[in-house]
Amino acid sequence: MKAKDLLEKLMKEKSLTKEEFVFLLEHREEVREEAADMARKLCDEHYGKAVYPRGLVEFTNYCKNNCYYCGIRAGNKNVTRYRLSKEEILSSCENGYQLGYRSFVLQGGEDPYYTIEIMVDIVASIRKKYPDCAITLSLGELDYERYKRLYEAGADRYLLRHETALEEHYRMLHPDSMSLAYRKKCLYDLKDIGYQVGTGFMVGSPYQTLENLAEDLLFIKELDPHMVGIGPFIPHHDTQFKDEAAGTAELTTFLLSLLRIMKPTLLLPATTALGTIAPDGREQGILAGGNVLMPNLSPVMVRKDYALYDNKICTGEEAAECFGCLSRRMERIGCHLEFSRGDYRE
Ligand code: SF4
Repeated sequence: MKAKDLLEKLMKEKSLTKEEFVFLLEHREEVREEAADMARKLCDEHYGKAVYPRGLVEFTNYCKNNCYYCGIRAGNKNVTRYRLSKEEILSSCENGYQLGYRSFVLQGGEDPYYTIEIMVDIVASIRKKYPDCAITLSLGELDYERYKRLYEAGADRYLLRHETALEEHYRMLHPDSMSLAYRKKCLYDLKDIGYQVGTGFMVGSPYQTLENLAEDLLFIKELDPHMVGIGPFIPHHDTQFKDEAAGTAELTTFLLSLLRIMKPTLLLPATTALGTIAPDGREQGILAGGNVLMPNLSPVMVRKDYALYDNKICTGEEAAECFGCLSRRMERIGCHLEFSRGDYRE
């Protein structure tokens, strides 16, 4: 078995066996550049040099869950908690709209304060005010009916990372109150309702093996999502994983390339976590096959409190500064920010 042959097989057949994925990941240094070239070329064929910015509004850092790796989990008493009002959320969107954004992402912890009625009202208000914009939600696990009501209120897309596709590994990262089976069910429910669906996972999370990553790729093959968000695990100082090593940019970018080759039309963010682990991480992610960025539109005064991991970048800049910085970064690598809805293309 040779890594180069497996890469070509992946290009042709769009998947590999678990053992083949593990081999390819083990021997990634032999084919890293070739994989990135293939991935970038596929991305260019489907989306050109466009990179789609999604304006991210992190509207609450309250969460009822206790994911062991997360800085804002319920059990962390050292967090300054905040909730944005409907008016503050709309004002963040307006700020983004004026800058040119046509795609908004509302993200928060699983915060029971925002009942389905409150969320439906917020989504419907954004939809009414910005009929030309895409609305993505990232609110965690809900039941089918609630997802449906939000979709009917005007949400287009939903992000819900599975984080790890293997039950044993999931158990090492989450308390017993959470279930991988339910999370997977949520993802299938979202697809069934009609959302453009995004999933994803951490790279280099505690106890993760290359077999785990192969399982993640196979789960993504089976789910067939429209978006995949992957980023390196970065420890947070108030978690039990505070002394664990972070994931690497090199493994994350290689996985981005494999995902692009597996499904050339994917919407694939170069995540903020990737930009945190390496100063040019987002550029590396785009050059490896990514085509989405998620700059922050949240009010600057709350940014630093939405810290899932340590040293998160871009917590001090106004939205307009992020916009200028990212435009320049993309131009330097021959790409450009495209301020459209940036829908998934079949
Ligand atoms: S990872 Fe998400 S669901 Fe888990 S504790 Fe953090 S905000 Fe809550």
